[in-house]
Amino acid sequence: MDTAASANRPIWPKDARAACAFTFDLDAETLWMARGVSEPVALSQGRFGPVEALPRILNLLRQNAVRASFFIPAWVAQHYPDAVRAIAADGHEIGCHGDEHERVSDLPPEREEQILLKSLEVLTSLGGKRPVGYRAPAWQFSANTLPLLVRHGFDYSSNMMDRLSPYLHPPVNGRSLVEIPVSWVLDDAPFFMFTGQRSIQAPGPVLQGWITEFDGITELGGVTNFTFHPQIIGRPSRFACLRELIDFARHTPRLWIASLGEISAHWRRLHEASTAR
Ligand SMILES: [Zn+2]
Repeated sequence: MDTAASANRPIWPKDARAACAFTFDLDAETLWMARGVSEPVALSQGRFGPVEALPRILNLLRQNAVRASFFIPAWVAQHYPDAVRAIAADGHEIGCHGDEHERVSDLPPEREEQILLKSLEVLTSLGGKRPVGYRAPAWQFSANTLPLLVRHGFDYSSNMMDRLSPYLHPPVNGRSLVEIPVSWVLDDAPFFMFTGQRSIQAPGPVLQGWITEFDGITELGGVTNFTFHPQIIGRPSRFACLRELIDFARHTPRLWIASLGEISAHWRRLHEASTAR
């Protein structure tokens, strides 16, 4: 292998060659509310997430000893407090994800900050721990998002789509956020979310695509950052995909499966150590 490339390779804990995170956006009804939906049947699709799918997902994660990251809108936490408590009780990470899944790019700066503070307060009191991670609803930023996250003590963002490995954002007032990039390719919504505009895809080929993407990122030493929605991945035919993916990841040699908070903390330590040298 070429030394320049290997010198640039991320270094993962315990001699792992790559990392993998299972993340879940527990949007419930807000995924639909944010699209202007108020009709009860359409909203009930969102309710499927916390009520029907979440207990099964938590059980699967427990059986496989996987620690995951859950991003929860404040509205959802207030309407399903037991769901938040169950996630926290199993040792998973909880991160901020707006209030009613509003697009921050449409909001005035004061409103964006109010929502961030509300979500920190609601999730800290229900989850018992102050969130350190932020995922924007619909993966959209305003010009103020990153400075706001730094100002309110966040450690990482999981929103950008420009890399396969984490990196540090340019510092704001001397502090940098870690970015743990995502991709629509590793998200369940583009394949399975049904809004009446196109047909639902069959789970088998989607699972195959995810495994191929995972293999490629693992070979390159990056982070496979899966983004799932309990209301979407929790349908039995797709839950089978999730089970297979977790099984596949667990049987992949030298792979570090961790929460985004753990990945971010590791990346920051590594970076700070390398700049101190
Ligand atoms: Zn969401």
